Amino acid sequence: MNSPETLLAQRLQLAELRITNRFATLPADFYTPLAATPLPSPYLVCASDQAARLVGLAPEVFSQPAFIAAFSGNSTLPGSRPLAAVYSGHQFGVWAGQLGDGRAILLGEAMAPAEPMWTLELQLKGSGKTPYSRMGDGRAVLRSSIREFLCSEAMAALGIPTSRALCVIGSDMRAMRELPETTAVVTRMAQSFVRFGSFEHWFYKDRKPELQILADYVIANSFPELQGATRPYHALLAEVTRRTAMLVAQWQAAGFMHGVLNTDNMSILGITLDYGPYGFMEAYDPAHICNHTDSHGRYSYRMQPRIAEWNCYALGQALLPLIGEANDVYDALSVFKPAFESSMQSLWRAKFGFIGTLEGDATLIERLLALMTASRVDFPYFFRHLSSVKMSATQQDETLRDLFIDRSAFDAWLSEYRQRLALENIDDTRRKQAMDKVNPKYVLRNYLAQIAIDKAQNKDFSEVKTLLEILHRPFDEQPEHEQYAALPPDWAAAIEVSCSS
Ligand code: AMP
Ligand code: MG
Repeated sequence: MNSPETLLAQRLQLAELRITNRFATLPADFYTPLAATPLPSPYLVCASDQAARLVGLAPEVFSQPAFIAAFSGNSTLPGSRPLAAVYSGHQFGVWAGQLGDGRAILLGEAMAPAEPMWTLELQLKGSGKTPYSRMGDGRAVLRSSIREFLCSEAMAALGIPTSRALCVIGSDMRAMRELPETTAVVTRMAQSFVRFGSFEHWFYKDRKPELQILADYVIANSFPELQGATRPYHALLAEVTRRTAMLVAQWQAAGFMHGVLNTDNMSILGITLDYGPYGFMEAYDPAHICNHTDSHGRYSYRMQPRIAEWNCYALGQALLPLIGEANDVYDALSVFKPAFESSMQSLWRAKFGFIGTLEGDATLIERLLALMTASRVDFPYFFRHLSSVKMSATQQDETLRDLFIDRSAFDAWLSEYRQRLALENIDDTRRKQAMDKVNPKYVLRNYLAQIAIDKAQNKDFSEVKTLLEILHRPFDEQPEHEQYAALPPDWAAAIEVSCSS
């Protein structure tokens, strides 16, 4: 068998991609076999070389007609048994009943040469109606497809677990949203697209055999290390809970807000899934709501950890028939808080350039966040510049000071921060290097995405490409792209992102 290195070096042509269909081996009730609805006159909008590399695809395939045909849904890849999966879920805290892939088609999975024994599922989103479309048209607009594409790839580059995006294929065909918009199909990749809601589906139907089939399937394919566990379903819940807690800690540290944390958007792998009205924190406000439609702020920045835990409880309830005892469910769920807190602490520590945890660190961090809230300080900009603080005061402090309304309060904080830094033996240069590896210089600000989308809607896809390249290296200086790291322009504050997609 070829080694992963050889496979990686190979860079396959599309026809060489071997598609298998594990999900399609599940019983018929789990999905509907269905091909995508053709997309009229499709064209390539963007593709990610890094994502393609994960399945060994060579970037020269991107412009080939066969690539565009396959990922617009106009042709079926050899070996693929396309299908739409069923799932249910809680939406905004309320049981919503059956949902399912209303506009997504699972093509099957491809080998992932970089991860031996791994495969990546390929899924089209926006590829037409399915039996689960309910009132929807089965399509996705170019705007939301570009947003999903860019954010998936940006999150991966930030080191945050996520589904990946291979490409966006556009069409002049329109779909009606607030206004008519052109449509697109985005191809996503993940080891699995099973959601918390996939389990809830069988629980609420009172179908224990199917619940067990799904749990066994997920364990065998995604958590093989749990197969020998004495209590495999308890272990599954504990591991998913742990991963979810760590994921949400990474979101908080990156200032990422998902926007629609319904249980049908929660990945059983603990990866970020289903990018809709997401946002990155800019002017710092823990109560910030990125989704314009979320009027009560259920999914605001500060609520995310609580909601993620609530969602784990929903999963726990769904797994109760398999786990048996409610106490065992609670026991597995008790993993959430310590996992989240320890993960959050170490992420904050790294953002501030602390090596160990010292008494008073939590207060120092909280005081800074309170000052940032009062002055609505730009989150990524502040942390990226914090690494330039030297042990002795310099001119550079002005960049940070100017971000605060109450400068003397910030001065007082900065002087305590310096005293704190002095307690650990790390010089300015090494500390800056370490901090710059965790505090990105480049983040996907809404206005940057919006500029790229506006151009793409006029068939100029260059800005999507430029942004992708920048966001694939978020921690690098990239002096040629300095303007992308600047504070946002005034008009950026007026951008509203809703569920419409
Ligand atoms: P979301 O809030 O985007 O996660 O979507 C919730 C559910 O609505 C999922 O089952 C989606 O597949 C479905 N859905 C969203 N938009 C559409 C659409 N335009 N057509 C069909 N189904 C959709
Ligand atoms: Mg969804």
